[in-house]
Amino acid sequence: MNAEQKICQNCKSQFTIEPEDFDFYKKISVPPPTFCPECRLQRRLAWRNERGLSKRKCNAPGHTEDIISIYSDPKLTVYDHEYWWSDAWDALAYGKEYDLSKPFFTQFRELLERTPLVNLADSKSTNTSYCNMTVEHKNCYFVSAGWGNEDCAYGNRLAYSKETLDSYTCHKLEAGYENVMCKASYRLFWSLQSESCNDSYFLYDCRGCSNCVGCTGLRNKQYYIFNQPYTKTEYFEKLKELHLESAQGIETLKKKFRELHVQAIHKYAQTLKCTDVSGDNIKEAKNCHWCFDVEGSENSKYCNWGAYGMKDCYDSGPGAGGTSELTYEAVSIGVNNARCSFSTTVWYSHDVHYSYNCHSCQNCFGCVSLRNKSYCILNKQYSKEEYETLLPRIIVHMDAMPYESLIANSEKRIAYRYGEFPPIELSPFRYNDTVAQDFYPLDASRAKAEGFPWYVPEKREYAISLKAASLPDTIAEVGDGILKETVGCAHEGACTHKCTTAFRVVPQELTFYRKFNISLPRLCPNCRHAARLAQRNPMKLWHRRCMCNSTQINADMKNPRGSAQIDPRESARYVNTTVHFHGGSPCPNEFETTYAPERKEIIYCEGCYNAEIV
Ligand SMILES: [Zn+2]
Ligand SMILES: [Zn+2]
Ligand SMILES: [Zn+2]
Ligand SMILES: [Zn+2]
Ligand SMILES: [Zn+2]
Repeated sequence: MNAEQKICQNCKSQFTIEPEDFDFYKKISVPPPTFCPECRLQRRLAWRNERGLSKRKCNAPGHTEDIISIYSDPKLTVYDHEYWWSDAWDALAYGKEYDLSKPFFTQFRELLERTPLVNLADSKSTNTSYCNMTVEHKNCYFVSAGWGNEDCAYGNRLAYSKETLDSYTCHKLEAGYENVMCKASYRLFWSLQSESCNDSYFLYDCRGCSNCVGCTGLRNKQYYIFNQPYTKTEYFEKLKELHLESAQGIETLKKKFRELHVQAIHKYAQTLKCTDVSGDNIKEAKNCHWCFDVEGSENSKYCNWGAYGMKDCYDSGPGAGGTSELTYEAVSIGVNNARCSFSTTVWYSHDVHYSYNCHSCQNCFGCVSLRNKSYCILNKQYSKEEYETLLPRIIVHMDAMPYESLIANSEKRIAYRYGEFPPIELSPFRYNDTVAQDFYPLDASRAKAEGFPWYVPEKREYAISLKAASLPDTIAEVGDGILKETVGCAHEGACTHKCTTAFRVVPQELTFYRKFNISLPRLCPNCRHAARLAQRNPMKLWHRRCMCNSTQINADMKNPRGSAQIDPRESARYVNTTVHFHGGSPCPNEFETTYAPERKEIIYCEGCYNAEIV
């Protein structure tokens, strides 16, 4: 099979299906996609709500209490965690015969509306609150999309971390705060893409460092400030001048760190112990392409936020892995999964397709909220023989009567046949509650035109008792009374971060700030999350050339987007410290990178980068 060019049904851009992609589609018996990889990603992301929580009534029989849930839509039936996981109700009671007079996706959405859903996806955890998409958590508060964390709060995508607050996509941190994409570190604060670093603040791409502040690209160093070495005594003297305990001191350092970060050289992608990979933030993987935030995986493509034992998977994640194979177009998929596709939150299952929130199931199609079932279609039980006869007919029907969406005020009409993940407008979540808003942000009018559910913030009328500007500069000046205050967020709702305008400080946080001498935050948790998210690159790749010694290359470089070219003087900001393999001529290496061509950062290939990193 040769590579084929296709036009995306959704964005109308051209995309390529490679010969190995056709092999994969053939292996799992699905037709090739009609959406481009990015539109496929956006669609899946819109079916995953990690942090968007709201208060609603529990719909379990006899229950009247308010519960916190990822589902705000009143059309959905939501049970509290304990009742949902009990045997007091039967999901098969909501099943219906397949109806040949309606498209499959319409019937699937109807089933999604009438079948009870679980308020938060938190499993095998103890003493947690506001935790979602979390497994095996202990004493955690508002942590989402995590595994095995303890004593953590306000974290998103943390794994096996302890006593870590306000961090994003981190693994094995202990006593960490405000870190983004960091690993295996102890007492690391405000750092980005650093690993095995201790007692340090504001590090970017540092490894094996301790007692360092404001450094970029260091390996196994101690007592460095702004990449300058100090003696131990000098270091601690100098540290006092930086006022790490003060909110103002931290603000000043944040600004300085942003400058240092943008001026530093950047490796085209963060990969470690990998063979033949493309993407970003990948560790111990082989033959993985267009993968982001992936660890311990192989032979996979277009996957993200996936770990350990993901094998032969396409378009899987966010949330994939934990020993999975042959999964395709799936979200929150994993834990001993095989051959599952077009599904969301399907764990410990195999051969499950077009299903939502099913656990330990086999051979199911178009099902919602099932546990330990096989041979079900639209939550109706069949025999093996009936299932095997009916399923091919449904697939034929999905092609003959596709679900069609018509985009308001446009000619755009999209047909969803067998082989496509369910449309965004049928998602149980509001677009801006989902991870799609993090990576493909829309505004209300755009979402409305596309027919996507949208969260309109209710008018908040918190009685703010303390303004962010009036908070003490250091934690030493803060008494226990702070726990009773309603603190105003410094953004005052005038941002696009779903600012809650006010927030409270919880006891767990206060203990943490006191223990590590950290001043109180000035922003609400949503605005804090947005600030961390802004520090990562998009899940998108551009083909570029190494910028090492490349003044001429930059001047000639055609920017594919046609916007401003990089000023050649910009790349002269960095002067190499050693002689590189390419001698005096520009480095010829090319690569796929998440740094868009119009960005200011200097991007180096692995060889040039490693030659400069000391
Ligand atoms: Zn597209
Ligand atoms: Zn805010
Ligand atoms: Zn904000
Ligand atoms: Zn190079
Ligand atoms: Zn070079």
